[in-house]
Amino acid sequence: MRITVLGGGPGGYSAAFEAARSGAQVTLVERERLGGTCLNWGCIPTKTILRSARIVADTRHAEEFGLHAEVASVDVERLRERKEGVVDELVGQVESSAKRLKVEVVYGTGRMVGPKTIEVETSEGTRTIESDAVVLATGSAIFKLPSIDHDMDGVWTSDDAVALREIPKDIVIIGGGVIGLEFACVYAAFGSKVVVVELMEQVLPGNDKRVVKMTQSKLEEMGVEFHLGDAVETVERVGDRMRATLRGGAVLEADIVMSAVGRMPNSAGFGYSEAGVEMDRAAVKVDEYFRTNVPGVYAIGDLIGGMMLAHVAEDEGVAAARNAVAELSGEEPTETVCHDCIPACVYTFPEVAVVGSSRDSAKERGIDVVQAVAKFAANGKALGEGESDGFVQLVAEKGTGRIVGCQIVGPHAVEIIHEVALAMHHDLSVADIAHAVHAHPTVSEVIKFAAVDAASKCGL
Ligand code: FAD
Repeated sequence: MRITVLGGGPGGYSAAFEAARSGAQVTLVERERLGGTCLNWGCIPTKTILRSARIVADTRHAEEFGLHAEVASVDVERLRERKEGVVDELVGQVESSAKRLKVEVVYGTGRMVGPKTIEVETSEGTRTIESDAVVLATGSAIFKLPSIDHDMDGVWTSDDAVALREIPKDIVIIGGGVIGLEFACVYAAFGSKVVVVELMEQVLPGNDKRVVKMTQSKLEEMGVEFHLGDAVETVERVGDRMRATLRGGAVLEADIVMSAVGRMPNSAGFGYSEAGVEMDRAAVKVDEYFRTNVPGVYAIGDLIGGMMLAHVAEDEGVAAARNAVAELSGEEPTETVCHDCIPACVYTFPEVAVVGSSRDSAKERGIDVVQAVAKFAANGKALGEGESDGFVQLVAEKGTGRIVGCQIVGPHAVEIIHEVALAMHHDLSVADIAHAVHAHPTVSEVIKFAAVDAASKCGL
């Protein structure tokens, strides 16, 4: 059985590797580098840069720890080399896995020219690949505000920020979502004056109020300024500076204006509609098994919209590959992804991690819930580490104690959220977490404290 995967990001390469492990003959088509947005321009480079920013931020508090230390300067070239080293290492590992699993990688831009036919423009000419099933995984592209000339010197997107050419003296970031705030954190730590402009009345739109309030106030402590409920109307270059004029009348000047207003499914010009694939604007429409309306054609990851996260793309890729193999073997597809218990993380200082619903969104969904909050300020490990700001907020169904969601702001939030995500995946209750022994001293104990409180509120 022959399966072709279009797009070599985390979704695409996970699908390709899973299909190969199941015995399929797999071709993976990638127009740039394996690893996609995540490894090359997204998750990995940003977290590598954030690590350096964290060292700078921590060093500012060295005196509190009885240490005399300071960061004399930031060596951008060295930072870039380190980031590229990490990215190259991971891309190399994906390339090696492809070789080991005998996945044929074809470099070039692919296009659907028939339901199961992909035409690839390679450096050696056009190649046509016929297969029994196709997985579309062309990811997402940066959404560009039409009012801004992105080719103008001094206008950046996240790709430019990740390229690490310079640390601007000052920067206006348009968009207070995850990407905007992570870069606000980076530049504030490196000493830039940072202003964030967000159209909505809050940063991290869609998130719980307590999470939003604390995240904003910690960034303000780092010197970040916010213009909420406002929009950048025009961006112009004045001499060697940028000028952004806001709808509310404010005029902001900076070295750089960075646009971080989101991403959109990357489907334009790849022949999907022409091949009969049903679309929802730029996103490919799929059912719960990641099947499009065209038999034998599946789609996954950022391309199908929803939660645009690398781990979602990976799990969807594995599920789509298994379903494709099952259907080609004459069986029914069975693999789905539980989209209700996906952790979503923001790598600000402190970190934010959420899974499932907040109390307000649970209520909107008609679920009767209790909420318990435990603070890191009462946790020995957090106090010892000097990171006692933050909380764990656990939301559980009244009566049964079934976990409905969790919001964490605080140290190691992005690591400890998985205890709750796993519990939700297995439909466990707050009493199950409360009864599990947690090692001491750990920041995970804060989850246990919240669970004990929630269990008692549920009468368990
Ligand atoms: P992509 O990773 O976009 O991969 C698609 C691939 O398809 C690309 O390699 C592209 O070159 C290729 N391609 C596209 N069209 C064609 C074509 N016609 N022919 C051949 N190849 C093609 N997510 C997280 O979970 N955690 C994070 O911390 C995080 N941080 C991020 C930070 C930034 C700055 C950005 C921009 C994104 C971040 N993301 C993060 C999101 C994450 O990168 C994406 O959700 C993830 O990469 C989606 O995977 P994918 O496989 O669906 O698509």
